[in-house]
Amino acid sequence: MAQTVFITGGSRGIGAACVRAFAVAGWQVAFTYRVSRETAGALAEQTGALALCADLHDDKAVSRAFGEVRGHFGAPDAVVCNAGIAEQKMFQDITDEDWQRMLDINLMGAVRTIRAALPDLLHRKHGSIVTISSIWGQMGASCESHYAVSKAALIGLTKSLAQEFGPSGIRVNCVAPGVIDTDMNAMHSGETMRELAAETPLGRIGTADEVAQSVLYLCSERASFITGQVLGVTGGF
Ligand code: NDP
Repeated sequence: MAQTVFITGGSRGIGAACVRAFAVAGWQVAFTYRVSRETAGALAEQTGALALCADLHDDKAVSRAFGEVRGHFGAPDAVVCNAGIAEQKMFQDITDEDWQRMLDINLMGAVRTIRAALPDLLHRKHGSIVTISSIWGQMGASCESHYAVSKAALIGLTKSLAQEFGPSGIRVNCVAPGVIDTDMNAMHSGETMRELAAETPLGRIGTADEVAQSVLYLCSERASFITGQVLGVTGGF
């Protein structure tokens, strides 16, 4: 029987590439979006995935989305905490509200998603969780300190949960992408993107599908003895 994956932020970028990659690999796919209703609907039609509107700010909306997936496909076998936001600001300009928004979506969004998935995963004593951090969570990032902190926190969460859930047969891993060609980087000028590509040993920025293939691998049985790891998909950056 086909396995089911729940992906947050599947309407665009890396999340949408994950939706396609899992669907091609024969998984039943459910994904969330916040505002991109039309894009999400078109992707659902193309892939046979289930698109669900759920703002990660809202614990109840996340639980409701899990309920819908359970009713449609059965309980998810894998969860991908992908949805996130980024913002560029000097440290002295980042307000308390900016810090709260960043941590609420990038960190607490993953916490809420994992909490909603946990009862089913524990019951089954099997499953895989993948968080999407960032190279900036490992290296730090100038003018994005709140983003870098939120992504570093996801690595701490991943490693902690891998230890806590391992005895229950649940694997928890993290993918830390480098610079990837998605809307999130639209704020950068062409010149900045060329500079970032030049700083990358492989000489280019990555594609969303290259990240998605790593996520698919970590959720698959091919990664059955891998947990608590951070897989960099960075072109060597
Ligand atoms: P995009 O901006 O292209 O897509 C973001 C996705 O997250 C969208 O599906 C969006 O939904 C969803 N989303 C945003 N806010 C919320 C919210 N409050 N509730 C629910 N969903 C939300 O981002 P990327 O694909 O580039 O990034 C995906 C992940 O990868 C992020 O966690 C990001 O930090 C990480 N990453 C990206 C890198 C890059 O270079 N692109 C590098 C390293 C890490 P909607 O379409 O409805 O707005």
